[in-house]
Amino acid sequence: MIVISGPSGSGKSTLVREVLKDPAFPLEISVSVTTRAKRANEKDGADYHFWTKERFQQGVAAGEFLEWAEVYGSFYGTLKEEIARRREQGKGVILEIDVQGAGQVRRTGEVTRSIFVFPPDWQACEARLRARGTENEESLGRRLACAKEEMGRANEYDYQVVNDDLNRAAGRIKELIKPLFMER
Ligand code: 5GP
Repeated sequence: MIVISGPSGSGKSTLVREVLKDPAFPLEISVSVTTRAKRANEKDGADYHFWTKERFQQGVAAGEFLEWAEVYGSFYGTLKEEIARRREQGKGVILEIDVQGAGQVRRTGEVTRSIFVFPPDWQACEARLRARGTENEESLGRRLACAKEEMGRANEYDYQVVNDDLNRAAGRIKELIKPLFMER
């Protein structure tokens, strides 16, 4: 289980997609559950499982989540089922989750690498979020405020990668996870 975190706007999703393109790594991304509204370009079941708050709470009560957290005012969580299915198929799994969730997953003792992605600088983070055009001013402000807090916990991760250049940063992540696949 590989855990990747980083502030909204750090470009971590694009980085993860780049790493997953490489056939050298039999890895899949765990599709999280969220209670936030679906964006126009997102597909239910592919980008996230979009659940109501009630369904999410039921899932928590029934122990369906490996971890869950409230992030930017919505709930997000990793389903145990997402991990189990891939494990049965002998595949590794990447969790793209926040710092709170990463802490919970680390305690299971099953995380083999944890990586924190930094934006190259503050302006790049804000510019990326604005260019994405998915957030209103309030949500943008909240995400940027949380980003500072999240970055303060980057030292809890095995490695830190600065996303200054997509290819270079993806290359660095591949170097970091390569030993996991050589041991198999
Ligand atoms: P977004 O709303 O931009 O898709 O995601 C916001 C943040 O939620 C991401 O930066 C990511 O760190 C976090 N996140 C996404 N899925 C999960 C999850 O399953 N668990 C936790 N704890 N955080 C998640």
